Amino acid sequence: MTTPRVGVLALQGDVREHVRVLTDLGAQVRKVRRPEELAGVDGLVLPGGESSVIDKLSRAFGMREPVREAIAAGMPVYGTCAGLILLADRITDGIEGQQTFGGLDVTVRRNAFGSQVDSFEVDLDIPALGEPPAHAVFIRAPLVEQAGERVERLAALDDGRVVAVRQGSLLGTSFHPEVMGEHRFHALFLDMVRERA
Ligand code: GLN
Repeated sequence: MTTPRVGVLALQGDVREHVRVLTDLGAQVRKVRRPEELAGVDGLVLPGGESSVIDKLSRAFGMREPVREAIAAGMPVYGTCAGLILLADRITDGIEGQQTFGGLDVTVRRNAFGSQVDSFEVDLDIPALGEPPAHAVFIRAPLVEQAGERVERLAALDDGRVVAVRQGSLLGTSFHPEVMGEHRFHALFLDMVRERA
């Protein structure tokens, strides 16, 4: 496969930014809102936004089960921020009744930096991406508080708190490469899509 066909779940959040990065990297990109649209892609991005809203809309649009099935079938999925929350098997500080798609064997805390620190930027050394460090922007960001054995930790803050993970075909970051012109996570995701196809 030369041109990967990937979708961005387009129920809420920073869909446009992901579409732009993936298009710049040469992928064929579609916005995915319905099960038929999901069936036509080889990989899916879950954008940043508000995880509880995306959760509710995914159920209203009949997307929850199809996305869960795609994850179970091994479709590569990349989640940023709210998208990472949606990939987590377990969350803390979710709203009442909040669900996730799951798949990543992690516990993620929503809004882990509290209301005092709504957003911040930092350079992260990420061995999987090589040089230079990645400039990461965190916006009401979640943290990976616990991770199972199969989970590879790709990046951590200076104090050791984990902010990027990979488990098989699933990739998640607490931060938003798509808003900073940082293309390497999306390039890694597209490699995962090509490998699997
Ligand atoms: N705090 C948001 C949530 O709980 C995530 C924020 C973001 O995606 N920038 O979903």
